[in-house]
Amino acid sequence: MVTAYIGLGSNLEDPEQQIRNAVGALKTIEGTVMFSISALYYSRPMGPQDQPDYMNAVARLDTSLSAIALLDALQKIENQAGRVRKDNRWGPRVLDLDILLYDNNVINSERLVVPHYGLKEREFVLIPLNEIAPELCLPDGDSIENLSKNIPSNGLKFHSKLS
Ligand code: ATP
Ligand code: MG
Ligand code: MG
Repeated sequence: MVTAYIGLGSNLEDPEQQIRNAVGALKTIEGTVMFSISALYYSRPMGPQDQPDYMNAVARLDTSLSAIALLDALQKIENQAGRVRKDNRWGPRVLDLDILLYDNNVINSERLVVPHYGLKEREFVLIPLNEIAPELCLPDGDSIENLSKNIPSNGLKFHSKLS
């Protein structure tokens, strides 16, 4: 089994419900169990500002799937939630599921970059990740606890626990 961390985000069509539904869907991925899930947080959008705030969370999955099979499963869940892929980057979306970490693996393929390229700069990833895995280190040795301590505040707000 491999430990993978997944970033969840939504800013359309009842984001809190989207995240709750996605958590349910993550639990049904074959060969995979959800080990833990962070609280829900509100974050300001990246890029275009004329869109609603996001709701974010981070989940730890333990999985026997390969990284690419896990990405397939996540994209299937995004599609089932009604995500429409558009050209505008960082535009509004009903559901985004990103692989943040896949054990200590470093992956640089056309479809998959792991650790996620934005992990170190994103408050909405680091704070929930630190909540569930403060002892975690990245493949390059950086500690999540240090990264999350030093991330500039961008207005992330605790919303509620998920359970
Ligand atoms: P960002 O990557 O900046 O968070 P995004 O999540 O909105 O933006 P998407 O439209 O969800 O980007 O994904 C675009 C492509 O990114 C996907 O088709 C996928 O193949 C690729 N990708 C590369 N690395 C990852 C990863 N670690 N997790 C999820 N998708 C990834
Ligand atoms: Mg993303
Ligand atoms: Mg994505």
